[in-house]
Amino acid sequence: MPEEFRVTPWEVTGDIDYDRLQTQFGTTPIDDALKARLEKYGPLHPMIRRGIFYSHRDLDVLLDRYDKGGDFVLYTGRGPSGNTHLGHIMPWMLNKWVQDTFKVDMLFQMTDDEKFLFKEKLDLKDTTSMAYENALDFVALGFDPKRTRIILNTKNIDRLYPIALRVSKKVTFSTAKAVFGFDESTHIGQIFYTTLQSVPAFLPTEENGRQVPVIIPCGIDQDPHFRVTRDVAPGLGYPKPTMLYCKMFPGLSGADKMSSSDENATIYTTDSPKAVKKKVGRAFTGGRVSVEEQRQLGGNPEVCAVFKYNYYLFEPDDEKVNELATKCRNGEILCGECKMCLVERINVFLEGHQDRREKARDVVADMTYDGFEW
Ligand code: SF4
Repeated sequence: MPEEFRVTPWEVTGDIDYDRLQTQFGTTPIDDALKARLEKYGPLHPMIRRGIFYSHRDLDVLLDRYDKGGDFVLYTGRGPSGNTHLGHIMPWMLNKWVQDTFKVDMLFQMTDDEKFLFKEKLDLKDTTSMAYENALDFVALGFDPKRTRIILNTKNIDRLYPIALRVSKKVTFSTAKAVFGFDESTHIGQIFYTTLQSVPAFLPTEENGRQVPVIIPCGIDQDPHFRVTRDVAPGLGYPKPTMLYCKMFPGLSGADKMSSSDENATIYTTDSPKAVKKKVGRAFTGGRVSVEEQRQLGGNPEVCAVFKYNYYLFEPDDEKVNELATKCRNGEILCGECKMCLVERINVFLEGHQDRREKARDVVADMTYDGFEW
């Protein structure tokens, strides 16, 4: 029996069975035919090719519209509760691919209100200042500054609130309980919050005065929010958002999701080369107890965090990633060597990212929605 798992927008635990989750949520697999269709617009992103972005709602409907000359807007976001780590930027990279491939505008929502409401220890001023730091990481990935606007919920509330109100009138407490698992002890801020996460899905339609759908590439843990958004959309005269869902970025400890609560198993974008070396050095691997055994029996890349990091982010070449898996299984490579190779890759990436992150300070002010000041 697989270990039980739990996936909600606020908690991911256990050994996730992604196929079962897809069935539970009622989303549709990104199959080979859909991948072939996507390839017509440009080279497929490795995360789609490898099934990391693996599930969707209505992607085919959105592409039908696009093929007929219809436009759409890209929307994703971040709940600012701490420093940005690799698990956060992984789906943003796919968002960048969507923007580059389809040349679309983007809304990036920073839910400082959500993290204030759901994290007991965080004050609003903490989540708002974290939002600025997280936004630097987002901008550092190279989104088109002319096509991208960053929403900060507490700063843009005047624009968000009228739509949030309309959404709130369509969502009963009974639905909120069923979808999010709320009970009588849940405070009313949490119950209302999901309405704010719906708003950017409807903003492009409001701004343009005509139906403009959005696509939302994000972790599948966010599906409960967007099920609500999709359910209320037609009744409010908005198009349903298209969803593109990815698996969670794994932790170095072998957990299914990288989490800030386990700092030693989490690579932050601001980590030093020394810190990366230390964390990867302690990573959970699929290696054997001794060099002799590993040479004789080989390792197990399927359970290995070091292999997963290469697969998810750091080795985009399919042939090379397959070669790594084969060498591991045949005992031709040892974990120490493999870890050093990953440390080098992560540090090369972080060096460039940290440089771009500093430069982002000069442009982030120009990318705010309605020109709000941080
Ligand atoms: Fe993981 Fe590499 Fe060790 Fe194989 S050799 S188990 S891929 S660290």
